[in-house]
Amino acid sequence: MAIDRSVSDLYRYLRQQRERYGDTLYVDEEVIRETELAAQGLTEENGEVTEAWKTARTLEHLYDLIHDCRKCPLAETRTKFVFGVGDPQADIVLIGEAPGADEDRQGEPFVGRAGQLLTKILEAVDLSREDVFICNILKCRPPNNRDPLPGEVEQCEPYLHKQLELLKPRIMLALGRIAAQTLLRTNDSLTKLRAGVHAYQGIPLVVTYHPAALLRNPNWKRPTWEDVQKFRRMYDELRNADLP
Ligand code: SF4
Repeated sequence: MAIDRSVSDLYRYLRQQRERYGDTLYVDEEVIRETELAAQGLTEENGEVTEAWKTARTLEHLYDLIHDCRKCPLAETRTKFVFGVGDPQADIVLIGEAPGADEDRQGEPFVGRAGQLLTKILEAVDLSREDVFICNILKCRPPNNRDPLPGEVEQCEPYLHKQLELLKPRIMLALGRIAAQTLLRTNDSLTKLRAGVHAYQGIPLVVTYHPAALLRNPNWKRPTWEDVQKFRRMYDELRNADLP
C-alpha cells in the first residue's frame, strides 16, 4: 500500500480512534508500520519497500518528498535546495550542473546575471522561461562552485531521472561542459559535444555553453546562438512529426 498520509491525516485518524476508544488508544499494526517506514523516507507498494520519492506522481509531490534530502554532504553546506522551475508539462528541459551562489540563496536555478542571459537566449528562439523546465543535475550547491563529485552525482542524479519521468520532455538542452560530460559520462570536449545530438534517458539532448561562460567570454555568444537555433529546429521537427 502506498504511504501518502500527511500529518493531518494521522492526526484525524488518532482523533477518530480516541472518540471510539476513549483514552485507551488503539492503533492498528498497518498504521504503525506505515508510520515507521515513513519516518525513514520509505514506503511499501505491492509488498515491496522502496524509497518514498520513487513513488511520486507529480513534480510537486516529488519536491515534498526530497526537499529535505540529506543523502550527500552538500546538505550540510547548502542554503537552499534547488529543485527546478518551470512548466510541469514542458516539452523542453534545460539542465545545468549545479546551483551557484545566487541559486543557493534564492532556491531557484539560473538566476542572477547568468540567469538573465539564459532568459535572453530563450527569447531569441521564441521561448520563455515559462515554456520550459529548468533544473540542475545536483540540487544543492557544491562549496565555492567546485565541480560535482562522482559520489554526489550518484546520489542526486536519480532525482533528475524521476523529474524527467514525470515531465516526459521531447528534447533537452545541456548547459555547459560539466553538465554535458556528467550526463553523458564522457570526457569529450565541449566542441565535440556541441557538434552532435545525444540521448539522455532516451530523450534527445543538445549541448551548448553555460550562460556564465558567455559572460566571461562574449566570443562564445555566436556559437551559442547557432546551438540554440539547431535546438529550436529540432524541437519544431519533433512537434511537426506529431501533426496528423
Ligand atoms: S545534492 Fe542531491 S543528494 Fe546531495 S543532499 Fe542535495 S538533494 Fe540530496
